[in-house]
Amino acid sequence: MFKYFHYILNKRKVEPPKIGVLYICTGKYHIFWDEFYKTANKYFCKKSEVHYFVYTEQLINTYGNKNVHHVFQSKLGWPFDTLKRFHLFLRENGSLKKMDYLYFFNANMIFKSKVTENEILPSPFGNGLVAVIHPYFYDHKNMAPFENNPNSSAYVKTDIFSNYFQGCLSGGRTHDYLLMASELVKMIDSDLSKNIIGKWWDESYMNKYFQINPPQLLPPSFAYPESGTFPFPKIIVQLDKGKHGGHSFLRS
Ligand code: UDP
Repeated sequence: MFKYFHYILNKRKVEPPKIGVLYICTGKYHIFWDEFYKTANKYFCKKSEVHYFVYTEQLINTYGNKNVHHVFQSKLGWPFDTLKRFHLFLRENGSLKKMDYLYFFNANMIFKSKVTENEILPSPFGNGLVAVIHPYFYDHKNMAPFENNPNSSAYVKTDIFSNYFQGCLSGGRTHDYLLMASELVKMIDSDLSKNIIGKWWDESYMNKYFQINPPQLLPPSFAYPESGTFPFPKIIVQLDKGKHGGHSFLRS
């Protein structure tokens, strides 16, 4: 009996984890794909099997990588292109469920140096979710822009001094991430039925969810604004949209 377990433990092939990168680049945001992919492919979780789920209506270069999956998604119009991201992940989520972990990245992010599994995957002891501390509020918690409309399902009492997370990067174990997605979709749809939209769109709802389900913290180095100066290393950078036509142009 002991010999049998010994055999299983030693001969069992340990598969690398499968990580699904969720990447939305509808409309003009497709210009960011190439640099995102090239840098992620070089630096992101190199011991894992990384799959890219690219939501767009544009033709994208898959770089011959069979793990780059084009998911057709037309532009929904601002702010729904960002607000409804979790709706997109729940739709046809069969292929996402084959992943061990899911990570969403904003389109304009690029990797500057390596990010290992140890640094970004959730610990087995937490709630399975990770999120990036907003670089503008990591030491100004009193200024964090939680939703202040008491009629919104994203409402957070303003006397709360807790971490505020940026919507540009979140992730975790597939089951926990999709569970969060379904809760956020309910909150967003409930607000939409009342003609309410959180002031920072998806980010407002995610921050409300994290009040009740605090994620494991990712450092603001993982969301370094390109044109800012902050006292932490640049590991994942958010490209300055001002250098690419600006917010209004890109979102139109
Ligand atoms: N997005 C998109 N197409 C659009 C607008 C937004 O694909 O026309 C997606 C894209 O993934 C982008 C994210 O929504 O990174 C967030 O939008 P944006 O960067 O404009 O918002 P911010 O992060 O600056 O609040």
